Amino acid sequence: MALKRAAALLLEGKLVAFPTETVYGLGANALDPMAVESIYRVKGRPSTSPLIVHVCSLEMAQTLVEEWPAAADKLAARFWPGPLTLVLRKRDLIPSVVTAGLPTVGLRMPAHPLALALIRAAGVPLAAPSANRFSELSPTTAEHVLQSIGGEVDHIMDGGPCHVGIESTVVSLAGERPVLLRLGMVTRAQLEEMIGPVDFPEPIVGGAHPSPGMNHKHYSPRTRLVLVDAGQLPSGEGAYLYWTQPAPSVCSVAMPDNATAYGAALYVTLHRLDAERWDWIAVERPPADPEWAAIRDRLQRAAAV
Ligand code: AMP
Ligand code: MG
Repeated sequence: MALKRAAALLLEGKLVAFPTETVYGLGANALDPMAVESIYRVKGRPSTSPLIVHVCSLEMAQTLVEEWPAAADKLAARFWPGPLTLVLRKRDLIPSVVTAGLPTVGLRMPAHPLALALIRAAGVPLAAPSANRFSELSPTTAEHVLQSIGGEVDHIMDGGPCHVGIESTVVSLAGERPVLLRLGMVTRAQLEEMIGPVDFPEPIVGGAHPSPGMNHKHYSPRTRLVLVDAGQLPSGEGAYLYWTQPAPSVCSVAMPDNATAYGAALYVTLHRLDAERWDWIAVERPPADPEWAAIRDRLQRAAAV
């Protein structure tokens, strides 16, 4: 019943927040430019930031693009539904407000059953960025959404905490060679195993960039976040997220020592500590291995000033 109502709201041009396996999304009918406009308004998101369009089937994805290259077939077969966004050349039926005027669209089939059921019930693709205000920490529970933009969405679907907990990997297949636009829990090595070499441009500091996840500062708690080597804490009162040894002098929080579990725990932990108003949140530098790349990326952006 809740599902039918949520789908009906979307078809009326309203906003529905829904769970995905990465983070909660703020969804609108991707084919309705007015509805998509209201996403930008509620988030305070610059209109230069394209939105990811969520689909429930390969067929739906293919109706939205000019070209569905062989690499898209391979990646979708391996990683969809899942935390991977494919950027492809869009068809005209995708309004330009969705893609910030770009000729490409980012498509993803989310792995959360409620997200898939909602898209299926609505029968239209859903444009959805994270359901929070621009540049804040992404929401990984319905409660986080309620606290951030609860007053401005028409409905929030609660699907429990997000299992992946970090925004999707974004890869562009729109150019001559595949380009990794945003790191996520699907790693560069996993992509390359399927489609060969994937370029990865160095992060851009300031200036124009093709996608919002490339902002130098992004995904930040309000509390100052610092990345530290084990035990090297600032002075004052703070919280310490460690994976080797706690520091007895401060509020020490044990983090998982495997990347998958760490990713799922990260934003929930930061949201909780942010509400406790410490002078700082110090995070022990995570391991240097490739499966931790997305986590290092988000922490570096959260720590950026
Ligand atoms: P979020 O704010 O978490 O929804 O992030 C949206 C992400 O989608 C950005 O980081 C972009 O990398 C990506 N994205 C969506 N559409 C496009 C597009 N047309 N071209 C490039 N990147 C896109
Ligand atoms: Mg976001």
